[in-house]
Amino acid sequence: MAKLYFTHGPMGSSKSAMALMTQYNYEQQGYNVLLLKLNIDTRDGAFIKSRALTTEKPCILFSADDNLKEVLLREEIKGKKYDAIIVDEAQFLTKSHVEELKDITIYKDINVFCYGLKTNYATQLFEGSKRLCELADSERELKSICKCKNKATINALKINGKVVKEVLGNCDILIGDTNSKDIYTYEPMCYKCWEEAESFKVEDLFNNNSQKIEVENIAQNESFVHKKVEKI
Ligand SMILES: [Zn+2]
Repeated sequence: MAKLYFTHGPMGSSKSAMALMTQYNYEQQGYNVLLLKLNIDTRDGAFIKSRALTTEKPCILFSADDNLKEVLLREEIKGKKYDAIIVDEAQFLTKSHVEELKDITIYKDINVFCYGLKTNYATQLFEGSKRLCELADSERELKSICKCKNKATINALKINGKVVKEVLGNCDILIGDTNSKDIYTYEPMCYKCWEEAESFKVEDLFNNNSQKIEVENIAQNESFVHKKVEKI
């Protein structure tokens, strides 16, 4: 019987590279692979892009409201039979999406490979990752290292060089990258370094107008997605 696989790791652990290598392995054997990604990750458009391999492959984008069993059916109607499904940035899946993928493994007998982060910048499980941990037949962790050479487990969000340790407003998802030139960036860190890092205090926003404006600007440039940040 087909299985639901969840491969997770912090930013910079080559998850997208692994996703594309899995696709390559299947296609080398003459199998068809459906590549999927939720449309809230706006960084690469309709592509799964590996920064490690500097390569990219076109994928099908779907929305938070889509039923993945219907998405698969829509693609099958175009004439292809799929042998595997690969989902990148799987942390953004809804609970329902994960349950639909599980059904696909059981009732369509198609292997599903999900790649994503386990936790958000506030060290909490993403909704999709939580459900994947609960339902996946197989779970695997990819490694990334902290600047101190210890194993990185935290996706630290930095604003103006300071680490944000609590959820900003209602926004537990903030699309970003490790090499971002934006006001905010991500850095894989071990827990000790994260714990000891100088933190960006949300309450400071109430006392500092320039920071308040900067964070409101982030919220407006479509970087805060899915859940809008509350007016601070
Ligand atoms: Zn460290």
